[in-house]
Amino acid sequence: MRKQIAAANWKMNLTLQQGETLLDEITAAGIALASNQQVIFAVPSPYLPMAEARLGSFADFDASAQNIYHKESGAYTGEISAAMLVSLGIKFVVIGHSERREYFSESNADLAAKVDIALKHELTPIFCCGEPLEIREKEGQNAYVAKQLEESLFHLSADDIKKVVIAYEPIWAIGTGRTASTEQAQEIHAYLRSVIAKKYSDAVAGEISILYGGSVKAANAVELFSSPDVDGGLVGGASLIPAEFIAIIKALK
Ligand code: PEP
Repeated sequence: MRKQIAAANWKMNLTLQQGETLLDEITAAGIALASNQQVIFAVPSPYLPMAEARLGSFADFDASAQNIYHKESGAYTGEISAAMLVSLGIKFVVIGHSERREYFSESNADLAAKVDIALKHELTPIFCCGEPLEIREKEGQNAYVAKQLEESLFHLSADDIKKVVIAYEPIWAIGTGRTASTEQAQEIHAYLRSVIAKKYSDAVAGEISILYGGSVKAANAVELFSSPDVDGGLVGGASLIPAEFIAIIKALK
């Protein structure tokens, strides 16, 4: 059975001490996850050892990197390699967040290379896709996100694509307070799954977790996650507030 996942994306927020307090408050809630559930914290890179240390004793609570570089090692000042993440005990990495695509010009081809190096090092990519507002207004979202999957993921074998977590994040809903409706989320998640099924098989598509991201909060998580093809959420703003993120974890199916 595919995993239901609550993933926090702290982005470039919080001091180390604030991050420690946030993790301590969330883990102190004593949430017992079901065997199909997983909680992930994508923290700023300097905080990865702290997060790993704090989460280590909580089963299925894990830290994640927010980005990775596609080269093995070398003269790439400021970048972080897959091997470095693995050496810290990290198992997850967010790849292709819309902010990376927009502010750092990461293309679908760049992201394919990042997915490849992550999988080579047995890191689980949390691959983000999603359309901007002007595409949604023209009802072009399905073709837009299908192209993102085709160009960044569909070179993978069936065995490898099953290791990827997909996060559908409509850009118009990220940090805007504007959420896709439950129907909009279910519709495009089901579409993404059908595209994967067509390329691979129903069985492969059925094993891939597809998270929704875009202004998820305690007040809408239960409804969003109740959709059959929505396997949890990637959460920015609300993941910085302990009570909000605790409620979001508890909203997982
Ligand atoms: C995100 O950062 O991926 C995100 C979805 O942010 P927010 O929840 O704040 O919209």
